[in-house]
Amino acid sequence: MLEQIDIESLVIVEYPSPVLRRKCEPISDFDDQVKRLAIRMCELMHSRKGVGLAGPQVGLPLRIFVWNPTGGPGDDYVSINPILSDFDGLAEGDEGCLSIPDVTVQVRRAVSAKLTAYDVEGSLYEIVGQDLMARIWQHETDHLDGRLILDFQSPGEEIAHRKILKELTAKYQKANPSKRASTSKSRRR
Ligand code: ZN
Repeated sequence: MLEQIDIESLVIVEYPSPVLRRKCEPISDFDDQVKRLAIRMCELMHSRKGVGLAGPQVGLPLRIFVWNPTGGPGDDYVSINPILSDFDGLAEGDEGCLSIPDVTVQVRRAVSAKLTAYDVEGSLYEIVGQDLMARIWQHETDHLDGRLILDFQSPGEEIAHRKILKELTAKYQKANPSKRASTSKSRRR
């Protein structure tokens, strides 16, 4: 599906764009388009000072995310068709999302995990990470399965975010008059 895409024109899509709720497809061709996509996603992540960005957040339901735990140059990673395993520990932490501006949700995540993924060249790698790194991986992997931090909201957070989500929905509908926003009730654990 990437052949037709003008990678340079990709931008970060926001809630309630339906692509954010899609179950994403694996990437099978490790070609130049995938490399361009990874570069563009890193640019977009840095432009918003984020620590991670997933395929659906640029409108593409593909199993790819980029991440950078420090914000520093040289610390960009690309994870394609990622699998998480070897979870250990649990900790609460505040998470935001570049696709849901001004919303912070407290999410319980594993403290450590193992990430197995392909890089842009199609080579498989494994990293064991803790704390922020493991949290980013879990947040981004959720994106690839259509799961958002909104699905982890407490009743109090839900009330606190009602206004901003309404505003985001109005903004989306104004920009996409023909498309139907996916505002169906979020899934809960
Ligand atoms: Zn996110």
